[in-house]
Amino acid sequence: MENPDLTVDTEARSSGRIQRANSLAGDVYEAIFAQLMSLKIPPGSRITVDNLVREFDVSHTPIREALGRLEGEGLVVKTHLIGYRAAPQITRRRFDELYELRLLLEPAAAAKATAALDEERLAVLQEAAGVMARRVGKDERLRYSNFARQDAIFHDKIMELAQNELIRETLNHQHTHFHIFRLMYHSRVTEEALDEHEAILAAFAAGDASGAADAMRVHIENSRDRLLPAFE
Ligand SMILES: [Zn+2]
Repeated sequence: MENPDLTVDTEARSSGRIQRANSLAGDVYEAIFAQLMSLKIPPGSRITVDNLVREFDVSHTPIREALGRLEGEGLVVKTHLIGYRAAPQITRRRFDELYELRLLLEPAAAAKATAALDEERLAVLQEAAGVMARRVGKDERLRYSNFARQDAIFHDKIMELAQNELIRETLNHQHTHFHIFRLMYHSRVTEEALDEHEAILAAFAAGDASGAADAMRVHIENSRDRLLPAFE
């Protein structure tokens, strides 16, 4: 599933089936996702279905469903006869490669997206950025994991506007945001990114293509520099 949120959206509208399934299975999925993103479940550690069953007081079915979905997102690894583990932390080399890839693709895409923007599309991007800023609920872990997901959506929407599906798929396929947010659980990761997103949106609003490319480059470079200490 390249774009879980968009897929669920479409399917839910057409059948209503996903919405029903969403209640319990979705909550369990979000809870485990939040534990993975905020490192409560550390990278590489064993995940025991029975323990999660006890912790969330649910049956095995929603736990297994959630773990299957997380496996598809590259966050959980299932090994025959051993069971589930949290995916290992990305290596420093992989981290450098991911950021090199992003710097090659995303600033140019931001410039290209500027041309495709109209008021309606800009409002969609502003809404996506706004959702990240809102401090909903008291659960910091959940807030952090929601931010990670919204950040993935925000960047993906820009790639969608840039209208190169191959580039978009390539970036989606890496599940970049899920891996990088899992490097460090810290408020700096989210707070500073918000200002940088604002700078990108300001360039979009001004119709400034090269400004948008610059703001995107700065955002990605800063994101890289914020997360580098995770490897020290
Ligand atoms: Zn971002």
